Parts: sequence; structure tokens; C-alpha cells
Amino acid sequence: MACAVRLAREGADVTVFERGERLGRKLSATGNGQGNVTNLRMDAGHYFSDDVPKVARALARFGAEDAVRFLESMGGVFLPDSRGRVYPVGRQASAVTDLFRRELQRLHVNICCGAQISELAYDSAFRLAWAGGQMSADAVVLAAGGMAAPSFGTDGSAYALARAFGHTIAPLSPVLVHLRTDAAGVRGLRGIRVDAALRVLRGGKPVFEGRGDVLFTEDGVSGDAVFRASSHAREGDALEIDFIPDVAAERAARLLGGDEGCLLCLVNNGLGRTLFRRAAGDPHALLRLLKAYPLTVTGTRGFAQAQATRGGVPLGETDECFQSNFRAGLFFAGEILNVDGECGGYNLQWAFTSAHCAAEGALC
Ligand SMILES: Cc1cc2nc3c(=O)[nH]c(=O)nc-3n(C[C@H](O)[C@H](O)[C@H](O)COP(=O)(O)OP(=O)(O)OC[C@H]3O[C@@H](n4cnc5c(N)ncnc54)[C@H](O)[C@@H]3O)c2cc1C
Repeated sequence: MACAVRLAREGADVTVFERGERLGRKLSATGNGQGNVTNLRMDAGHYFSDDVPKVARALARFGAEDAVRFLESMGGVFLPDSRGRVYPVGRQASAVTDLFRRELQRLHVNICCGAQISELAYDSAFRLAWAGGQMSADAVVLAAGGMAAPSFGTDGSAYALARAFGHTIAPLSPVLVHLRTDAAGVRGLRGIRVDAALRVLRGGKPVFEGRGDVLFTEDGVSGDAVFRASSHAREGDALEIDFIPDVAAERAARLLGGDEGCLLCLVNNGLGRTLFRRAAGDPHALLRLLKAYPLTVTGTRGFAQAQATRGGVPLGETDECFQSNFRAGLFFAGEILNVDGECGGYNLQWAFTSAHCAAEGALC
């Protein structure tokens, strides 16, 4: 949608194909329905890709401030929170989708919903086919998403369109996803949400450290700190949770002893009861559980519940505008590319950045 707006503003004749019944259903669900569209703490260090320097160059061409300006050029006001995460002031993601729909309509962009592109070929021009018809085009931007959250129309079937032109697909895995852990570690904690520090360790060495919400579920942990950790964690890694990151171990140790009342106002009561039972009242064991609660990663809840896809069309197979190295005029934008960002607005920023670069390339 961002690419179509950019192209249509330059006078191009644009058609958007969407297999679903409406445009932007996933966008309307982002940021817990509030639409975390970008992050002002923006640099390529927040991304995973086969070519991070290329991501950095793209962000230099169209970064977070550009994305905010672009969105506000369609309407609304977008402001950051204390962690740099930018939202529409009305905190409604579906209103961001409405901005796009309104702008596409104003620019007379042809919208073809319920049309799944099943064939894309080139024979002196691009030929696109869907169940209801076919058309030809001078250029094509493939912005069909990845495999995460297939309920929004992204089941990975669109990778075949890229493969038909000789592209490979870097190995796919779900990220920004609930982590499954050993059952014993989460027993008795289901439903408890804490603001905690989280570490992922591999072979005893930290591969991720972060702070934020951790929510215990029946089979593992969720929440924004866990989503960020999921970009780094693998099956078999150790997780350590510090339930009291703002309280030094020495200070906590002075409180521990006697009955479970020693944990009052230190941690959530339900959590305190479970930790006390598990430590069998031993203050040393209790301190360890408070500052480094151990869990083992056994997997994730998979693409069905993931927010983003790792893997996709390698940046190494595209130029600086994400134009195919194998077929001039074929561009890629968004999650279909082998780029995934951390939680906090980085994936929508990537969609906007790559859409802008692809539009620039297509306009050349
Ligand atoms: C629940 C949830 C919350 C999220 N929250 C955030 C957030 O707050 N901030 C953030 O930065 N990111 C967030 N993300 C990630 C972000 O939404 C995606 O990375 C982003 O939408 C990717 O944009 P895209 O245009 O590449 O693909 P998508 O938004 O996935 O759109 C691709 C579209 O292509 C259509 N399509 C697929 N194949 C075909 C075909 N063959 N023919 C026609 N149409 C086709 C699909 O139906 C889909 O509508 C969230 C994701 C989810 C699932």
C-alpha cells in the first residue's frame, strides 16, 4: 500500500492485488490493535538479514522520521512513547489502514481484492494471472508478506512467484513469537505477568538480554520481552528471568527468611507463593529463583502465532532498490525479503523503507 501511494503520487498507473477481501487486515492488528508503526531508535542493529549493511543503506534513504512524515502526509498525528515506539495518537491501528485506503482512493489506484496472484511470468512484459483474469504490467512489486500469521493471508504460497524467476528463499522460521519452555518451569505461574529482565544463554553465554513484560502461559512465556528474545533464542537455550531487576541481590537477601510473607510487596503474591514453595523456604535458593529463574526453551508456537518471518528472498539477489538481479522490473518489498526486525515498530518500518526504495527503482 505504501509503495502504491508513492508510485501513484508520481503519476504511475497502479493496481494493487490482495487475495483477501480487504486491504491491510494485518496492519489493522498491529501493536495490539494500537499500530506501532515505527521506532525513533532506528538503526540496522535492530534487524536480521543476509545483508545488514544494505538494510542500513536503505534506512539512510528512508528512515523512521521519513515514515512518520509519509504517514502524516496522508493524515493523522503520530507520536513516540518513552521507548521511541511511534503510534497514531488515537492508538487505533485500523485507522492507519483507513488512512491508506483513503489515500489510495484519492489517487485513483485500482484495488483488486479477492484476487490471489497465482502466476507471474515475463514475456516482453510481466503477465499476472488470478482466478478471475489476467493483466500485463511494465513493473511488478511483490509485497506479499511472509509466513507469519497465516490467518491474515500470508501462508508462504507467494514465495513460489519469486522462485519462478530463479530466486532462492533463505530458510524460514517464526520470530516475535511465544516461546515454549519446559513444563515444570511454568507450572503454577500461568496468567502471571511481570515486568522483568530476561536473559537467553547458549552454552552458558548470554545471546540476549532485555527488559519488559513477561507473561506466563500454560506452555511457556509470552510478552514483549519474550518476543524480542525470540529473535535470538533457539531450542535448547536457557532462559533466566530476574523478577526484581531494580532491586540489588544484597538488598533482596536481607528481606528473605521466615515465612512466605518475606516476599510481600517484592513480587506478585501468586508468583511469591510458587517461588517460596519451590525454594522450600531456603533463602539462598529463593534469591536464586528471584534473580535468575531458570527455564529451558523447547520451541515456539510457530508461524500461526508469530508476528514476523525470518528468511525469505535474500537481499543478495536484489539491487539497492530491491529489484531482482534475475529480472529487471521485478521488485520486492516488506516481509517477503530476508529481513526481520525486533519487536517495537521495526517490521512496519522495514515495510515502509523497502516500499519506498522499490518505488524509487520502479520510477527510474
Ligand atoms: C498480530 C501482529 C502484530 C504485529 N504488530 C506489529 C507492530 O506493532 N509493529 C511492527 O512494526 N510490526 C508488527 N507486526 C509485523 C508487521 O505487521 C509485518 O511485518 C508487516 O505487515 C509486513 O508487511 P508486508 O506488506 O510485507 O506484508 P503483509 O502485511 O503481511 O501483507 C501482505 C499481503 O499480501 C497478501 N497476499 C499474499 N499472497 C498474495 C497473492 N499471491 N496475491 C495477492 N495477495 C497476496 C496477503 O493477504 C497480505 O494481505 C505484527 C504482525 C502481526 C501478525
